[in-house]
Amino acid sequence: MKPQTILKAKFGYDSFRTGQEAVINDVLNHQNVLAIMPTGGGKSLCYQIPALMLDGVTLVVSPLISLMKDQVDALNENGIAATFINSSLDYDQINQRFNDVENGDVKLLYVSPERLDSGYLNRLAELPIDLVAIDEAHCISQWGHDFRPSYLNLAQTIQRLPSQPTIIALTATATPIVAKDIIQRLGLQEEVKTGFSRPNLAFKVIKQQDSDKYLVDYLKQNSGQSGIVYASTRKEVERLTKLLNKKHIDAAMYHGGLTKEVRRENQENFLYDRVPVMVATNAFGMGIDKSNVRFVIHAQVPGSLESYYQEAGRAGRDGLPSEAILLFRQSDVSIQHFLIDQSERDDAGKKREYEKLQDMTQYANTQECLQKFILNYFGEEGTDCGQCSNCLDDREEQDITVDTQKVLSCVKRMSERFGKILVAQVLTGSSVARVKEFHFDELTTYGIMKGSSQRSVAELIDFLTAAGYLVAEGGQYPVLRVSDSGVAVLQGKQKVYRKVAVQASHVLPQNDDL
Ligand code: ADP
Repeated sequence: MKPQTILKAKFGYDSFRTGQEAVINDVLNHQNVLAIMPTGGGKSLCYQIPALMLDGVTLVVSPLISLMKDQVDALNENGIAATFINSSLDYDQINQRFNDVENGDVKLLYVSPERLDSGYLNRLAELPIDLVAIDEAHCISQWGHDFRPSYLNLAQTIQRLPSQPTIIALTATATPIVAKDIIQRLGLQEEVKTGFSRPNLAFKVIKQQDSDKYLVDYLKQNSGQSGIVYASTRKEVERLTKLLNKKHIDAAMYHGGLTKEVRRENQENFLYDRVPVMVATNAFGMGIDKSNVRFVIHAQVPGSLESYYQEAGRAGRDGLPSEAILLFRQSDVSIQHFLIDQSERDDAGKKREYEKLQDMTQYANTQECLQKFILNYFGEEGTDCGQCSNCLDDREEQDITVDTQKVLSCVKRMSERFGKILVAQVLTGSSVARVKEFHFDELTTYGIMKGSSQRSVAELIDFLTAAGYLVAEGGQYPVLRVSDSGVAVLQGKQKVYRKVAVQASHVLPQNDDL
């Protein structure tokens, strides 16, 4: 049977989605391939169809143990022989399943990466494995946002398999660096990348507003619509759910601290449209295939643009107009700092995470098209989407060249060795001890922005960083330096424009809470 015939006969679909056929053909031609497709793009079929065409078995490596059973059940329901092996099974069950595979009764065998490291290797080596599919392949790269050490030995393990299987790696979130890393580590020859763009998503960044109020108002205006609200911590998920329920908004919650039963029940209530809103940590969503999610709101900023796009991308899988909203507060960035600091990563790993967070904050501060900003981050060109909050921002642009020059020259005079807060303090003429300690009160730029609050100068610095005039480098406490385009501004060769916030009644008071 041809791939097209299987698509119809086994899965009931009439045509392939972008990229699927190319990937399937690569696999069938024994080309090791990396498939980069957005969430909901249809990655699973890229290995499931070849699995049905190959003589031997397809080994699927997936980190999502909790979802393996669901995936296998779904295949079995379609009449496809699939099974899984993970830590939830006892020795006899595992033995039985290996026997089933050896007897040729199984076409797809799902395993977790940890299992490949363990004593199963000998049994696996005896199996006629024709294809290895590695799901969530970005986990293999330390440059990815979800690096897992158990993925590191995968390449070696696969090489040791006597059947010399073809490899397909799949991911929805690979920056060019991550893609290169995956290709190198797994020895892949091909890359099939379908566009990251999700034209039906309207991105919004909401700043300087009372987030709780915004959330409640939004959910009331969109009542009955299905959506996800993400928060960074369990505590915040609990608080928000309570708040919404108090306001008579029907919302369920999901986080790792709830029992398995409660999680399953809440998840099903959401999936089957019994409860419209799910408030969750990032523990929720992987592998969830709900097509009519109309909005994804991040009540707190996540740690990286990869996470953000993956989570926001759960909106509008059915292709209908949907919204992806980020409620941004500078204070939430500190929560992410805390999470990075507490993590078990080594220093280099932490530094990379801080840099990802820096990119994420730039997204919140850019005045470029938000869709384009994301596409550029993932190494793609983009044009203005015309529907994000920046494209729709019709405030007048103001020439802020002079203020920019003040900031940039202050950064230069401080020898490009300090971060945003101290620069803002020097510019606004603060008398804090650190300013005196470094004799920055003797600089000509000391106090030249005295009329502005420290907070608004810090926001200007964020904007100039997002716009590329300043570069913020380093881990937890990024140090500012002036970029080439910043130098051009200092030399009077380039002007800088910014849409500046109007003072409306809903704008919070500008207190200096840096
Ligand atoms: P991903 O893993 O890329 O996030 P999935 O493989 O889970 O996406 O596919 C998302 C949804 O799209 C699934 O419900 C799947 O059955 C469906 N799908 C995949 N390929 C096609 C196709 N060619 N035509 C229609 N629906 C498809």
